[in-house]
Amino acid sequence: MNAGFPSLDHDHKRCVADAMARADEACDARGVRLTPLRRRVLQALAESHSPLGAYEIVERLKKTREPVPAMSVYRALDFLLAEGLAHRIESQNAFLACIHGHETDEIVLFLLCERCKRVAEVTSGALGRDLSQATRGVGFSAKARVLEVSGLCNACKKTEARVKQSQGISR
Ligand SMILES: [Zn+2]
Ligand SMILES: [Zn+2]
Ligand SMILES: [Zn+2]
Repeated sequence: MNAGFPSLDHDHKRCVADAMARADEACDARGVRLTPLRRRVLQALAESHSPLGAYEIVERLKKTREPVPAMSVYRALDFLLAEGLAHRIESQNAFLACIHGHETDEIVLFLLCERCKRVAEVTSGALGRDLSQATRGVGFSAKARVLEVSGLCNACKKTEARVKQSQGISR
């Protein structure tokens, strides 16, 4: 599923509920436990469409219920990454809840909006197969199958166009 960036007026409660429901399902299917702590960390990630650094997660959890030591947040993040419930955005050293599972042969593109700082993920099977072919050709086995692409999301493109237009009028 390639949903891209949600609109600015989307039902965000739904995003969070969907992410949590998917995580419960995935953990049940694999027989692993989404402990209350892991759940809180994932929820904090799901509540933001911008990636959060580990320290930011610690800060956010402090504001909700009892604080969680950074070490525990790191351990919960390790679990979420290993189970494919969250992604690490390397260029920002920050984390994002994964909204859908991934097939092993597809490649994940993280679209990083430079203006609103939101990140959306889209997947491509064709790119993934291309990558496999190219890397196998030189005897390399690729582990991380993600690409980060920076630019402007749809909403920000519209905002920028409006700003440019109003500047044009005032001149
Ligand atoms: Zn949302
Ligand atoms: Zn994902
Ligand atoms: Zn944007």
